[in-house]
Amino acid sequence: MRRNAGSRTRVLIVPMGVRRPAWWCYPERCQNVHESGPDLITVSWVLCDCPAAQAASGGGAAGHMAVFCNAAPGCRSVWYRPRCELALAAV
Ligand SMILES: [Zn+2]
Ligand SMILES: [Zn+2]
Repeated sequence: MRRNAGSRTRVLIVPMGVRRPAWWCYPERCQNVHESGPDLITVSWVLCDCPAAQAASGGGAAGHMAVFCNAAPGCRSVWYRPRCELALAAV
């Protein structure tokens, strides 16, 4: 099956105002329904030894990629990959 790319480009990807690059692998909205985007989140790494983090570590330091919402002041929404099995999100 070949794709006839270019003949029709009427794919509606982002109906709202935020543009996300093609490699975007983060959630599109935080738990408080803020849109996420390159300027609206902070990505960092948090150490954790829950089973999910250890399974994904491959023998290295176990932890999660953590995406913090920056879209609105005071929003403390955090998203973990892999999903944390502890109550890491509880502040
Ligand atoms: Zn948010
Ligand atoms: Zn964890």
